[in-house]
Amino acid sequence: MHRPGCDPDDMTELDFLCDFCGRDWSVAQPFVEGHHGSCVCGACLRQALAAPETPPTGFRCNLCLEDRQDLALSAGGARLCRRCRDRSARTLERDPESGWTR
Ligand SMILES: [Zn+2]
Ligand SMILES: [Zn+2]
Repeated sequence: MHRPGCDPDDMTELDFLCDFCGRDWSVAQPFVEGHHGSCVCGACLRQALAAPETPPTGFRCNLCLEDRQDLALSAGGARLCRRCRDRSARTLERDPESGWTR
């Protein structure tokens, strides 16, 4: 998410917050952005990958903003679907600069 009250014309890494742990981009790296400024950091993604599969349950995913049944992570009032989890993990794995591993 974007920090409340931030200046959209002058965004710094401190203005991007992980939707799930609330840490900003300067400390929580790497970051993957979803729709409407939603963000998930590498640590929360790793947590989502390690979480046990949950039974289908209806929720709105913070990253794709769709109504989903495949909950991967629920933290900080935000929810992540398994599709976005896997897509974000692939994005980070393909980016050599991210240094991210599962
Ligand atoms: Zn996070
Ligand atoms: Zn999603």
